[in-house]
Amino acid sequence: MCGIVGYVGHREATPILLEGLRRLEYRGYDSAGLAVAHRGRLRVTKAAVRVAGLRDLVGTPTQATSGIAHTRWATHGEPTDANAHPHTDTSGRIAVVHNGIIENSERLRAELTANGVTFTSDTDTEALAHLIAAALAAGAASLEDAVRTTLRRVEGAYGLVVLDARKPGELVAARNGSPLVIGVGEDETLVASDVAALVRHTQRVVYLEDGELATLTATDFRTSTRDARTIDKEPTTVELTAEDYDLGNWSDFMHKEIHEQPAAVSRALLGRLDDQFATARLGGIEVTARDVHAIRRVKFLGCGSAYYAAQLGAGLMEELARLPADAEPASEFRYRNPVIDSDTLFIAVSQSGETLDTLAAVRELERKGGRLLGVVNVVGSALARACGNGIFLHAGPEVAVASTKAVTNMAVSFAMLGLLFGRVRDLSFADGQRIVEGLRALPGQIAEVLDAEPEIAEVAKRYADAQHMFFTGRVRGWPVAREGAQKLKEISYLHAEAYQASELKHGPLALIDKSMPTVAVIPGDELVAKNIATVEEIKARGGPVIAVTSADLPDGLADAVIRVPRTELELNPILLTLPLQLFAYHVALTLGRDIDKPRNLAKSVTVE
Ligand code: GLU
Repeated sequence: MCGIVGYVGHREATPILLEGLRRLEYRGYDSAGLAVAHRGRLRVTKAAVRVAGLRDLVGTPTQATSGIAHTRWATHGEPTDANAHPHTDTSGRIAVVHNGIIENSERLRAELTANGVTFTSDTDTEALAHLIAAALAAGAASLEDAVRTTLRRVEGAYGLVVLDARKPGELVAARNGSPLVIGVGEDETLVASDVAALVRHTQRVVYLEDGELATLTATDFRTSTRDARTIDKEPTTVELTAEDYDLGNWSDFMHKEIHEQPAAVSRALLGRLDDQFATARLGGIEVTARDVHAIRRVKFLGCGSAYYAAQLGAGLMEELARLPADAEPASEFRYRNPVIDSDTLFIAVSQSGETLDTLAAVRELERKGGRLLGVVNVVGSALARACGNGIFLHAGPEVAVASTKAVTNMAVSFAMLGLLFGRVRDLSFADGQRIVEGLRALPGQIAEVLDAEPEIAEVAKRYADAQHMFFTGRVRGWPVAREGAQKLKEISYLHAEAYQASELKHGPLALIDKSMPTVAVIPGDELVAKNIATVEEIKARGGPVIAVTSADLPDGLADAVIRVPRTELELNPILLTLPLQLFAYHVALTLGRDIDKPRNLAKSVTVE
C-alpha cells in the first residue's frame, strides 16, 4: 500500500527519489523517508511528514548515486518520525524500505531483543534490517544472500528494497504479495511499487513475481527465486509517460479523473461494440459460445468501490444474460470455505490489480479449479497476470484514492460482458442493438451530467453540515446508493449509510428526522412509483431528500433534484453514479478535506 522507490545509477539519487515518492504519495502518506549511501555510510532522513515536508528536511545534497525511499501507510506503530521508513540495523549499515506486513514480527523482535538488539521503532519492518545485518555478519556471500536467508524466516507479505552502505552500487529487492517493478534505464536502474515512479526515467520495465528477488546495479539486474534459482526476465515496454500522472491545471486528481470519464469510457468502448451481431467484442477473454452456455452462475469479487461496481455488474449480468449473478467482497471470500463449482464463472475486479484481498481470493480459486476472469485497470499488475483471461478497463492511471473513472469503466465493462453473454444466450438482436446504442451514447451523456457540476456543487454545499446521510436505492439504484455512500464516507468523513429503499421501513426509518438528509437514487424504471412512495415516507418524518434521478418526478417531491439523462434502463445505474461522485467531492471540498489523500486510507490496498 505504501510507495517504494529505489535508484542506483550515475545521477544524484536524492532528487530522483523525492520525485518518485511524489508520484507515489497516493499509495500511502502518513510519513516519508529516504536513505542514500554516501562515503560508506547511510544518510537517512525520515519523518511523519508528506513528501513535500521530506524535501524540506533533506538538507544539503550529497553526491550519492544510490538510495531507497518510502511513503508509509502504517500497519505496525503509529505514524511517527521513528516509525517512518527506511529502517536500519544497529550499526547503520543496512537500510530497508518495506511495503506490507511481517506477520511473525513479534517473535522475530523478541528473539532479536534477547540477542541484545535495541529496537528504535514499533514497526514490523525494523526486524528485517537487523536480520539482514546479522546474516551479513554471519558470513552471507552477498547482500542478496543475506536477504534470502532473512526471508526464509519471515512470514507475511512484503515488497522490500535493501541498501548496504558498504556496497552502494547495488540494491536488493524482493516481492511477496506487494508489487515491485524494476525500471531499466541508460546506466541506471530503478525499482518502485508502481510504474508511476519510473516512467519519467524509462519505459522499460520488469515485473517481479511473488517469491522473487532481484539485485540491481546501474547497468544490470538479476532476478532469482527465494531458493536461488536464476530467472531470466526481459523488460517489457509500458505505454505510459510522466504526463499521464500530471495534474495539469486541476487542483486535485479526483476532480481531474471525474472529468476524464467521457474520454475514459470512450476508450473502454473503442473497438468493442459490434453492430453486425449487436454484441460486444472482448478480445482479452477466452470464452467460446459453448463455454458461455456451460456457465450456470456468475460471481463477482471485489473490494470497496470495486465490490459495489461488481454488485452493479451482477445486476447487469442477470438482466442482460439472464444468468444468476451476485457480488461478494473478495476480502471475505477465502475465509469462508466458498463452494467453487465448475459451472460458476468468477470475475475478480480491481482497479490496481494489486489488491491483496482480491489476489488472495484468486489464489483460492486457482487452487480449487474455479473458472476465472479478471477485470483490471493496470496492465502488468499481479491480478492481470494471475488471471491471464480478462478485460482491461482502459481508464488510464487513477491517482486519487477515491476511485471514479475506474469504477465507471468497470460498470461499462460489465455491461459489455453482459451483452456478450446475453447475445449468446437469449438477448434478442433488437435488445442487443438497443444496448450497443445505449453504450455508444454514454460518453456524451456522461459529459452532460458533468456539465451540471455547478448545480450539484450548490446542493452539496447546502447539505455539507449534516453529520449523517442516508443513501437509498431499489434494485438498479441499490448498488448506486452504496457506491454514493462509500464516496461520501471516504473523502468527506461524514457518516453515510446505504439502504435498500424497500428496507427503510423495516428499521432505519427510525433514524429519520430533519437532521438526516437522504440521497434517493431513482432510476427512471418501473419502480419509480415505489421510490416516490419511499420519498413521501421520509418527508412525512421531516427528513430532507435529495433525489438523483433519470425519472420525471412530481414537482416539489424532493428538496433538491439532480437529473441525469435517460438511457437504456439497464444502463441507468452507470449514469446515476456520476452525480454522486460530484456530490461527495463538493461536500468534501466545502469541509476543507484533503480530497486526494483522505485520512487513514491509501490507494491500492496491498495489505490484508
Ligand atoms: N508494516 C510496515 C509499517 O507499518 C509497512 C507499512 C506500509 O506498507 O507502508 O511500517
